[in-house]
Amino acid sequence: MDFSFTEEQKLLRDSIIKFAQCELNEGLADRDREQVFSRDLWRKCAAIGIQGLPVPEEYGGSGLDSLSCAIALEALGYGCRDGGLVFSLCAHLLACVVPVWLHGTDAQKRCYLPGLTDGSLVGMHAITEPDSGSDTFAMRTRAERADNGWRINGTKTFVSNGPVGDVAIVFAMTDAKKGFHGGVTAFLVDKATPGFSAGQKFEKMGLRTSPVGELVFQDMHVSDDTVLGRVGGGSVLFATAMDWERILLVASHVGAIERLLETSIAYARTRSQFGQAIGKFQAVAHKIADMKVQLEAARLLTHRSAWRLGNLRNASLDASITKLFVSESLVKASLDTVQIHGGYGFMIDYEVERALRDAVGSTIYSGTSEMQRNFIARWLGL
Ligand SMILES: Cc1cc2nc3c(=O)[nH]c(=O)nc-3n(C[C@H](O)[C@H](O)[C@H](O)COP(=O)(O)OP(=O)(O)OC[C@H]3O[C@@H](n4cnc5c(N)ncnc54)[C@H](O)[C@@H]3O)c2cc1C
Repeated sequence: MDFSFTEEQKLLRDSIIKFAQCELNEGLADRDREQVFSRDLWRKCAAIGIQGLPVPEEYGGSGLDSLSCAIALEALGYGCRDGGLVFSLCAHLLACVVPVWLHGTDAQKRCYLPGLTDGSLVGMHAITEPDSGSDTFAMRTRAERADNGWRINGTKTFVSNGPVGDVAIVFAMTDAKKGFHGGVTAFLVDKATPGFSAGQKFEKMGLRTSPVGELVFQDMHVSDDTVLGRVGGGSVLFATAMDWERILLVASHVGAIERLLETSIAYARTRSQFGQAIGKFQAVAHKIADMKVQLEAARLLTHRSAWRLGNLRNASLDASITKLFVSESLVKASLDTVQIHGGYGFMIDYEVERALRDAVGSTIYSGTSEMQRNFIARWLGL
């Protein structure tokens, strides 16, 4: 088993870290406070290929394999301190662009992928509803046959990029009797479609530069051409999006954990109390040693899962295990980083409190930790 990176992968990692550190961090405290999503930074990321990492070049992407995508997103999470921007990019790429690439018709791919990869369009993935979160397929949004197409009514909530997005994958019940398997269909819908509107925008504790809101569909008529995948194939498409998101979104978290580790080491070396660096106190040093162990385990798990995503028929169990472990490691690493920084860690100027606020959502989005444990238990026959 060869764990080394290829020369291309090393170059990819180094160039993304350099780009992110130089281009994406300035003015972050203000953007976070004011909840600003930056289209300018979005375009800069597109210019270096982030929004189309795995997409074939003929549709405007970079054509990378799934492990190289993980390496790229890990580098982005390490170099970019704007967790909201990284999250918006990942939601766009993994839950919108990838399903369009893997399940879209050639016409859908030609229509949307160039804009989704060149930074001119922002993608969304809309499944959660006010009364159906973890119980995703208890959705109330309905699509009924009408005039050579479908009429969609319903409300989606907590949609990442909802307030600024241009095109959404919308899940709707097309056959309530079939339910989860065969009864849900995904539609690829342009925000300009009559009946499509952005509802409430939410204020959040973290990831504040990533806008999240409701999408409302009122008698929205869409043609058959908007069906993504096949009629009744929504659960398959959702599974694809979640496998990619659970593995590759947390790749960016691995990068964030490494940054938190370095921040903690630097502070523990320079902050003195009782006449010595606080890193000399075992209670502090052990927190940092544990962080290093969790980082290495998280990285190995993520790289293996990313490889399996591209090489095996099914990586859903890997996805749940990886999502669970890495997100919980991120929350622990960011909480420990605040603790190591003492009172300064609690203050905004040191920027570690923002990392903690950004981390908390990671055990909720893409399926909560409790749901990942349920999936893993089910795979084990429990
Ligand atoms: C920052 C952020 C971005 C998001 N982006 C998107 C997006 O782009 N698109 C989208 O569609 N959705 C998005 N979501 C929604 C997200 O997927 C849901 O919040 C998540 O699935 C949980 O659903 P819920 O909030 O309704 O909580 P609930 O399902 O109501 O859960 C509440 C609590 O009960 C627990 N629970 C529920 N059922 C069980 C069970 N069977 N066993 C054990 N525990 C259980 C949960 O784990 C949780 O702790 C986002 C959420 C966040 C926080």
